[in-house]
Amino acid sequence: MAEVAYISASRVFPGTNPVRAVDELDLEIGDGEFLVLVGPSGSGKSTALRMIAGLEDIDEGAIRIGGREVTHVPPKSRDIAMVFQSYALYPHMTVAENMGFALRLRKERKDTIREKVAQAAEMLDLSEYLDRKPRELSGGQRQRVAMGRAIVRDPSVFLMDEPLSNLDAKLRVETRANIAALQRRLGTTTVYVTHDQVEAMTMGHRVAVLAEGRLQQVDTPRELYERPANSFVAGFIGSPAMNLRTARLTERGAVLDGHTVPLPRETLSVASERGLDEVTVGMRPESLRLTSPGEDGAELTVELVEELGADALVHTRPTAAESASRLVVRTDGREPPKLGDRVSVVARDPEELHLFDPRT
Ligand code: ADP
Repeated sequence: MAEVAYISASRVFPGTNPVRAVDELDLEIGDGEFLVLVGPSGSGKSTALRMIAGLEDIDEGAIRIGGREVTHVPPKSRDIAMVFQSYALYPHMTVAENMGFALRLRKERKDTIREKVAQAAEMLDLSEYLDRKPRELSGGQRQRVAMGRAIVRDPSVFLMDEPLSNLDAKLRVETRANIAALQRRLGTTTVYVTHDQVEAMTMGHRVAVLAEGRLQQVDTPRELYERPANSFVAGFIGSPAMNLRTARLTERGAVLDGHTVPLPRETLSVASERGLDEVTVGMRPESLRLTSPGEDGAELTVELVEELGADALVHTRPTAAESASRLVVRTDGREPPKLGDRVSVVARDPEELHLFDPRT
């Protein structure tokens, strides 16, 4: 087992317009930690993972695994095992041969290989499929063989690149719980790439959010949710994500759709110390409440109601301004409003509102 560190590490793809796919990444992943790299498509997640694997040059900075600098060490000498989205199984080999392949290359003894493969197969519920070929397996079983191949090598670090993206939604949820449980059992340092923030939040000890090759925030799922560092993270994490609206600040609060949303004095003084007169206000759907249209806020029209069972997501838009953006409110699913209803929205507790600097 080992810790992994990026030290101001960059990967710049050359060309007429060079792409800084990973831009001065500083990140330390602890021994035994499950760290998820998450971000939208093109944010540099795969490149960052491949830098640890040695599949991508490090153009600036360094990578360390287990305290050893590996910046220029070839992939096979890094003691890592990678699980790809495609699984990359050999079609002509059985499950057992696929799983034991790396050990055969390492010239391990036949009975040791058999034992390690049997052990991993047991963990992954694959024991009865060891003699099958990949084409005779379901998608979920193939995914587990790909995991098994990584496990038998007993590496210092697992690297996983969207390993669940070829599974259907139900199986993805099951498998993500299994992978997380397996990782905790093995205690092997794991770096896991996904674009799916729910996957990130449910699996990672910590989650690192990337945008345009830059690290936005690295924190526990709870911290990311409760204290997003900027409006990018706020808009990316949570399902649905936070409502984000630009507002003008006054001495009493933020002016949204012509109505003042009161803010705690402390929040206001922090904003004024930073010289902000315009802010991005972040409001989680569950931090808002519907009221009858009245004094409290602008009149809004219900545009869409998503019934989720226990609760409902109500999408509203200012009645007067067609162009204004929606505000999504989570309400009790038993009595959701109807389409076209006129409502107002108020904050449940001003302490639950977030303010962001619109420049970041
Ligand atoms: P992600 O995994 O978050 O989708 P990638 O790491 O694949 O993002 O890509 C990050 C950026 O680097 C993107 O802008 C992508 O187009 C660019 N990129 C990735 N691989 C290459 C490459 N081999 N050559 C040039 N540009 C690349």
